[in-house]
Amino acid sequence: MHTSALVLFSGGQDSTTCLAWALDRYQCVETIGFDYGQRHAVELQCRTTVLKSLRERFPAWNGKLGEDHMLDMGLLGQVSDTALTKDKAIDFEKTGLPNTFVPGRNLLFMTFAAALAYRRGLTVLVGGMCETDYSGYPDCRDDTLKSLQVTLSLGLDQRMVVETPLMWIDKAATWRLAEQLGGKDLVSLILEESHTCYLGDRSQRHTWGYGCGKCPACELRQAGYETYRKGQKG
Ligand code: ZN
Repeated sequence: MHTSALVLFSGGQDSTTCLAWALDRYQCVETIGFDYGQRHAVELQCRTTVLKSLRERFPAWNGKLGEDHMLDMGLLGQVSDTALTKDKAIDFEKTGLPNTFVPGRNLLFMTFAAALAYRRGLTVLVGGMCETDYSGYPDCRDDTLKSLQVTLSLGLDQRMVVETPLMWIDKAATWRLAEQLGGKDLVSLILEESHTCYLGDRSQRHTWGYGCGKCPACELRQAGYETYRKGQKG
């Protein structure tokens, strides 16, 4: 049976919720993060804070939460020319995709995560990819991830299960999932400490957390949080 997992953990709302989901479900959970020269490098500091708070505030999870691994993926910044890694305005390309799309990013992340999981004896990879409330990134689609699961399992000659608990839910439902998993305490931890803003802005605190309030990631987070709050009151 699959009892151990590696969570792709960036320190954002989605991956923090995925980490809680994994801690609720598996006996042993490790985390992996990637530094690829992203403009929102502040996210990488937030991930350390989130891990520390999860340990302190959720003793039952602390015992299951194992090592954290950071990989230097600077080469991704070298090959890509996007608004996430270069100082340019967020816009749409001729392809219809936003220029925040980093081609190959999730394919590489999943492959490196699988290699690490193989070494660590972990058999499940958990990622926060989502097809419902997303920017149209093709490497976040369910078919891409299902196909990767097959490719990785074949290429490693070992079963790798790819789990994407957020695939079919929207941002409001992601907040609800966090509440189900860890109650109000987890919701407030995510609100205060997780980072979503593409521009790495943590100077402004809104009801839905920190961010510039204008980039697509902030807009999604805000809309999701407001819908979640309305649902609570109704
Ligand atoms: Zn923002």
